[in-house]
Amino acid sequence: MSRVFNFSAGPAAIPDAVLARVRDDIPDWNNTGSSVMEVSHRSKEFVAVAAKAEQDLRDLLGVPDDYSVLFTQGGASLQFAMVPLNLSTEGQTVDYVQTGSWSKKAIGEARQYCNVNVAADSADKNFTYVPPQEEWQRSEDAAYLHYTPNETIGGVEFSFIPNTGETPLVADMSSTILSRPIDVSRFGVIYAGAQKNIGPAGITLIIVRNDLLSKARALTPSLLKYSVYAESDSMSNTPPVFAWYVAGLVFEHLKEQGGLAAMAKINERKASKLYAAIDESDFYTNPVRKDSRSWMNVPFILKDAKLDEKFLSEAAAAGLTSLKGHRSVGGMRASIYNAMPEAGIDALISFMRDFESTNE
Ligand SMILES: *Cc1c(COP(=O)(O)O)cnc(C)c1O
Repeated sequence: MSRVFNFSAGPAAIPDAVLARVRDDIPDWNNTGSSVMEVSHRSKEFVAVAAKAEQDLRDLLGVPDDYSVLFTQGGASLQFAMVPLNLSTEGQTVDYVQTGSWSKKAIGEARQYCNVNVAADSADKNFTYVPPQEEWQRSEDAAYLHYTPNETIGGVEFSFIPNTGETPLVADMSSTILSRPIDVSRFGVIYAGAQKNIGPAGITLIIVRNDLLSKARALTPSLLKYSVYAESDSMSNTPPVFAWYVAGLVFEHLKEQGGLAAMAKINERKASKLYAAIDESDFYTNPVRKDSRSWMNVPFILKDAKLDEKFLSEAAAAGLTSLKGHRSVGGMRASIYNAMPEAGIDALISFMRDFESTNE
């Protein structure tokens, strides 16, 4: 079978050029006569790959020098616990903004360790918008404020970076990182699971401002402490070498594409086209308020849910896969991360129009 346009929310598509490089590298990587999965993570070859991945990521995001870049395991979900364990004391108050399924999960986990104040919540409208910051009820003494810039399931994205003054801002950027430039200096901690916009599942990226590295609670297991990763170049134990290597290739590829400013232009164009196609039809709808729509995850609902199965099977036959929406939203969801080429959006729009005209 030839390569499809894969709209999976995660694990998601990886750029063809990166896959081709991986394929070529597998039997004899870097003239070692081994694959990258079969050499010591402490070998000079692998240490060079790890360091280059970090440097390329720093270049892409413009990470300031007083921030550490960490690579861990456990996915973004483990950060739901690592954030409170590393940044707050027992029972301390922390602020969370609840805008969808992922922030809700982060809140659930934090409640085990902290006194969570939900500073803003869009559950009243089924998580279809971002509450404006003027309406947030922040606490005076929060250890940090946590939010989810892009809610992968609802397709809701913040169009602004919250202003929290001295309070460290913590962001789960799993499904928006690398989609556009960001001002890292506005954040205390940024974290992201890899399998949306970075590379294969199994590695997690964390960017931490150095003054926040060593505040972990006493009983925090070593491998859950940010400081342990920072002090060991994320090699306190065996890291996920293959995922790290592929992530490095993705970073290199993004730099070759012109970096994040170039990606932002393409991503905005891709998303605008798809939303325009949805908005101009009476057959498809997107439930999200216009100012809160995601560039990366575009849910859309068909006029008649009885057509969902037919839509999905005909789309798959046309080479457009993984469009089924999350069960909590229903309908369809097109995840259109960096690796989705514009041609994939054009193919989807054209398929949607054909489907509409034969099923109205
Ligand atoms: C996918 C996702 C997660 C969960 O990531 P895991 O790596 O599976 O733990 C958390 N937050 C957001 C915003 C996500 O998109």
